Amino acid sequence: MQVLVLNSGSSSIKYRLFDDGRGGDSPHGVGDGASVGTDTGGGALVLLARGLVERIGESTSTAAQTVVAADGTATEDVEDGIAIADHAAGFRWIVDRLEGSGLADDLGAIGHRVVHGGEEFSAPTVIDDAVIARIQAQIPLAPLHNPANLTGIEVARELRPDLTNVAVFDTAFHANLPAAAYRYAVPEQLLTEQGVRRYGFHGTSHAYVARQAAAALGRAEEECRLVTLHLGNGASAAAVDGGRSVETSMGLSPLEGLVMGTRSGDLDPAVIFHLLREAGMTPDEVERVLNRESGLLGLCGDNDLRTIEDRAAAGDAAAQLALDVYVHRIRKYLGAYAAVLGRLDAVVFTAGVGENSDTLRAAICADLEVLGVRLDPARNDGVRASTAPGGVAAVHADDSEVAVLVVATDEEREIAEQTLRALRALRA
Ligand code: ADP
Repeated sequence: MQVLVLNSGSSSIKYRLFDDGRGGDSPHGVGDGASVGTDTGGGALVLLARGLVERIGESTSTAAQTVVAADGTATEDVEDGIAIADHAAGFRWIVDRLEGSGLADDLGAIGHRVVHGGEEFSAPTVIDDAVIARIQAQIPLAPLHNPANLTGIEVARELRPDLTNVAVFDTAFHANLPAAAYRYAVPEQLLTEQGVRRYGFHGTSHAYVARQAAAALGRAEEECRLVTLHLGNGASAAAVDGGRSVETSMGLSPLEGLVMGTRSGDLDPAVIFHLLREAGMTPDEVERVLNRESGLLGLCGDNDLRTIEDRAAAGDAAAQLALDVYVHRIRKYLGAYAAVLGRLDAVVFTAGVGENSDTLRAAICADLEVLGVRLDPARNDGVRASTAPGGVAAVHADDSEVAVLVVATDEEREIAEQTLRALRALRA
């Protein structure tokens, strides 16, 4: 059976098609290298295709699909300057393109990424009208994310009512944070009436890389205490104890915590009142500045870490300061999470920056003997998770008490696996 994974944004849909290697007449029957240690109960999932529809609703949209053949060769097909008026047209493009490539002939389910599950959802959930209403009820908590995720779900249900749709929530992995970690020190009424608490995000990624890391350490997840650092354009840290998230850096929304591409991460909440009163900004303007114009972009005018590293290497002071603030914040969290865990077995780097930037990893791990962390420069230099065997590389020194692992995350694969699990539970 095949599973289509959709990640619907406000003007884009990212997708991947996987085959579980069971049933149907798909020619792809073998696992690929990136699926080490994953358990779907039916063997490793095989990636058949991935793609992206962008600039939906603009005068010209772009859509691209890459088909991955059984021998691993990838063929990309890009359509530029086409008109894709809305998400329904985008979804139709995806299904047409998959079918045109001779794929999606054994489609059984669609797994949807949903950013905010609030306190309602702690597990992948088969979608029906009642579930949609419950996801809608989370919109006040995630006005920037959930509406687009819901549009994707509604379009898929309308155009392919024959398929089972499953929602997989970014918050779910953190749903069992202890109260000491999820409560803000505010009146309880704000929690009970407004849902004001920490939820955490990037959960599918933290869960996936924590499992891969435990497998790479050759230990049961239950025995591992890990700090996972998801450093992409969005960035978050999690403390994972025995396979459970016990602390994480994002809060009510993805704005809290680490410095990100365009998000500020932590700041004194009084900054917001100050901007409202003294700068005469509206709440929407403050929200936009802190989400879209801050972080690395706010510090130095760029948010792509590669550009910032190049600028810093050429002596640009603003770029160097941006890197310093970014690294300093991560190191603060690392120390804090080591204290939360009480023991540290591994630091896990993942996502665009964590998987690719050896210089950032080195800066984050520099002089961390106090935590038992010692990087091996020769092992770290030039390492990229995507080219490491099984998507995992160990970059610590032999005498490091704590392992340092670079792990290729695969949120879509995790969503596909969770979708299949929810489907099996439904059929059981
Ligand atoms: P998203 O959160 O959008 O999924 P990604 O996980 O793809 O983001 O990460 C994007 C970030 O990763 C960008 O800041 C990009 O500059 C950075 N990145 C990607 N490749 C490299 C690299 N080779 N070296 C340094 N940074 C990189």
